[in-house]
Amino acid sequence: MRNIGMNELKQDIIDYAAEIGIQKIGFASADPFLELKTRLEAAVKEAVLTGFEHPNIDERVYPERIFNEPRSIIAIALAYPSKMKNEPVSKKEARRGVFSRASWGTDYHTVLREKLALLEAFIEKRVPEARFKSMVDTGELSDVAVAERAGLGWRGKNTLLITPEFGSFVYLGETLTNLPLVPDKPMGDLCGDCNKCVEACPTGSLLGEGKMNPKICLSYLSQTKGFLDEKYRAVLHNRLYGCDTCQVVCPYNRGHDFHFHEAMEPNPELVKPELKPLLSISNKEFKEQFGPMAGSWRGKKPIQRNAIIVLARYKDKTAVPELIRCMKEDPRPVIRGTAAWALGKIGGREAELALREAYDDDAEVLTEITRAKNLIGVR
Ligand code: SF4
Ligand code: SF4
Repeated sequence: MRNIGMNELKQDIIDYAAEIGIQKIGFASADPFLELKTRLEAAVKEAVLTGFEHPNIDERVYPERIFNEPRSIIAIALAYPSKMKNEPVSKKEARRGVFSRASWGTDYHTVLREKLALLEAFIEKRVPEARFKSMVDTGELSDVAVAERAGLGWRGKNTLLITPEFGSFVYLGETLTNLPLVPDKPMGDLCGDCNKCVEACPTGSLLGEGKMNPKICLSYLSQTKGFLDEKYRAVLHNRLYGCDTCQVVCPYNRGHDFHFHEAMEPNPELVKPELKPLLSISNKEFKEQFGPMAGSWRGKKPIQRNAIIVLARYKDKTAVPELIRCMKEDPRPVIRGTAAWALGKIGGREAELALREAYDDDAEVLTEITRAKNLIGVR
């Protein structure tokens, strides 16, 4: 910190960030995030936290709780693609589901951590006493709150960060540091009168004015491992992981499709996979094929449960034998029960016969079997 001015260093960091393919970089103070505190406390009170968040509110709000003498935060944003080339078509008898865009390509946590590590090394060379704590998504700090303060964009009514240049199709990360870098100015909220995301949300998770009930967001629900409530099965549509609706409808994303990073390019067969093969995929195969994607972090169970729900939506009769096998043989109650329900939804002679003689020791599975029998009209 002795030999180099902070303004000069800041400019060097900005130049280097551009060189290594970081689309946006900004600088924020390390002051407490008091606005976030109010929001998080309200969420605790209303019991709408999902459990995926870092559990300690004070550590999320006060940077000094997680870092010795923090002086500033460097925020970065990397733009990701919104369209895939050679998108496979979902055909009758070979129906497909989709992973949301945040799961396209290599897990973005890995890509951003690499960029942040490069930034750290670059700064350390100039200022050996510099210290850092870098985070991507799963850290204590809120990526959106940091990025907003650092002037990268504003927090839209869909609760995501929207950048004027790349819309909300950006991954965020940050590094806390002991360097007193000059902060940038936050930009204003440009949502204005628009309410498109709130109106388009299929579950009513967006409550307006940037408020949200994440517990009923399909992005969260698609990652849960238990039974999915029937009312959410009805709106899952073809989603296997995540939900992009509140991004797709946003006017600030219109026409945006950026392909800056090879690692973020989707493999169409993996991000829009055929559903039936997913039902019998082994753990090893799942790991080999889907392991590098962000959408695999919860393992194969939620993806398989969702695949069954999507097959039910398509009323895919060619899936019936595989669903019968799942209902009878799968060791996991969620898969047996959801398969039974899907058989009730799809219907037909084969499903009817299987449901007639279906029984399960697990109470929840039995409930699903009964529900399926009612759907199909058998006792
Ligand atoms: Fe609603 Fe989907 Fe956005 Fe969640 S991700 S808030 S379900 S539109
Ligand atoms: Fe804001 Fe409209 Fe985009 Fe929602 S859809 S985030 S209200 S601009």
